[in-house]
Amino acid sequence: MGPLPKRKISKTRRDKRRSHDFLTPQHLVVCENCGEYHRAHYVCPKCGAYKGETVVEVNED
Ligand SMILES: [Zn+2]
Repeated sequence: MGPLPKRKISKTRRDKRRSHDFLTPQHLVVCENCGEYHRAHYVCPKCGAYKGETVVEVNED
């Protein structure tokens, strides 16, 4: 007996595990200004807005 699982994981169980993989990552919020995801409690790196108000000027090249 080697270090193998006793049972093959069923398709149902495998898919249930993977069902979490593509959900919105935690600690991300949608920017109220531009709609991009950015880290919660951080200024949006895309538009420089925080809680819907522009607080940092972002240069768009
Ligand atoms: Zn934004």
